[in-house]
Amino acid sequence: MTEPIIYELSVSGRSAAHLPALDVPPSPLPPAHLLRRELDLPEVSEPDLMRHYVRLSQLNYSVDTGMYPLGSCTMKYNPKVNEDAARIPSLLNVHPLQPAETAQGNLALMYGLQQALAEIGGFAGSSLQPAAGAQGELTGILMIRAWHRARGDTRRQVILVPDSAHGTNPASTSMAGLRAVEIRSDDRGNVDLEALAPHLNDQLAGIMLTNPNTLGLFDEHVCEVCRLVHEAGGLVYGDGANLNALMGIVKPAQLGIDVMHFNLHKTFSTPHGGGGPGAGPVGAGERLVDYLPGPIAVRKEGREGDQARYTLRMPAHSIGRMKAHYGHFAVLVRAYTYMRMLGAEGLRASSEAAVLNANYLQALLRGVFPLPHDRTCMHEFVLEGRLADAPGIRALDIAKRLMDYGYHPPTNYFPLIVPEALMIEPTETESKQELDRFASALRSIAEEARREPELLHNAPISAPVRRLDEVRAARDLVLSWTRPTRPAED
Ligand SMILES: *Cc1c(COP(=O)(O)O)cnc(C)c1O
Repeated sequence: MTEPIIYELSVSGRSAAHLPALDVPPSPLPPAHLLRRELDLPEVSEPDLMRHYVRLSQLNYSVDTGMYPLGSCTMKYNPKVNEDAARIPSLLNVHPLQPAETAQGNLALMYGLQQALAEIGGFAGSSLQPAAGAQGELTGILMIRAWHRARGDTRRQVILVPDSAHGTNPASTSMAGLRAVEIRSDDRGNVDLEALAPHLNDQLAGIMLTNPNTLGLFDEHVCEVCRLVHEAGGLVYGDGANLNALMGIVKPAQLGIDVMHFNLHKTFSTPHGGGGPGAGPVGAGERLVDYLPGPIAVRKEGREGDQARYTLRMPAHSIGRMKAHYGHFAVLVRAYTYMRMLGAEGLRASSEAAVLNANYLQALLRGVFPLPHDRTCMHEFVLEGRLADAPGIRALDIAKRLMDYGYHPPTNYFPLIVPEALMIEPTETESKQELDRFASALRSIAEEARREPELLHNAPISAPVRRLDEVRAARDLVLSWTRPTRPAED
């Protein structure tokens, strides 16, 4: 980067701060040995400071700047009214340890959200504790384990995980002290019933199902799989990350799912691209509802609304807490606001539009790149990022080249069962015109791959940094600026 960074703009004595005159007695400094002689902070003016942060923010790609088709992550536009709600002072300025009697508004919101999630999922109840989807998975598997143990059934140690599942599924199983066993998919992308059969025995604790699955396909045997697992004495965990396709259309509990996490930051809109906080509430059917983590909000008296009073309680056989206090409260506020703004009809309409958008885009791209599972998709679909007549090109090259066309790359190399996978989720918040533009970018890239493959190998060309060594970038983190020691170094 050629622009000077903020440390290089520093001029001794310059300041962006305007402090009022001191109106309290000055307090003495800490002892000298606790003080640093040289605090290496930049001294800059307000405009320098402003430009520094705005410039940094512009180096990031975000869903507020363009389409972000990152499959499975549901990078939909996050309405700004959610942010206003999350900053309402009476919700925000509450201490987690203050008596429930004095935080009735917060509890009413938690109660309302628990009810709404239970209704959407078809569950008997829900808990807002888990911090993210992955922690929701751990929660659900711990609940399944506790349920078997409460019945004295300690032999059941196996959790079946389809080969299309997110990597967090087997990880959560292991963290819960159970054993993950992989089940292959059939050639239509469903759980293979033949592969399932030998595991339907008295070792089976349960199965983790993602439906629609990570191929973006509604499992054609989902009810059958749930029935078989139940008959064998197991329970069914639902990975709810793909609920964006189903809201108001199908209730996962009615398919046979006993416990499921919701990714509030995906389906119910909270910014989450930069790894910010999410929330992974868990809903449970009759069999598991008393095992939910807590505390959960309950209504003490009065009808819902002004006269109602709320309190907190641990469910009867609760597995305990998964998180300090009440989960990621500000994310809960955003999700609740989003639901109330859309209403039941609006939620259903968003899922319908998400599915329509994905099918429209799939139709535009059929024949541009190989489509291994050519079926009506749900809210996303998976292409193969390779071309028979451009053999040197990989999914990674296509993903990087998309950045030069102004798009965030789709999820790539996941799910693992599709070679060179490009997993595309447009979400409901993109217009037909934007989908047309995105499809034409991919069409141009396919042409470039044949004519000028070097363009793709060298991409991205226009991004703030070129192609990174991603392994090194993750392993060898440089998180702060250090003053160059030798000026000629770079
Ligand atoms: C995102 C995702 C998860 C994990 O959720 P986090 O909130 O990121 O922890 C699990 N399964 C699937 C299919 C996902 O897409």
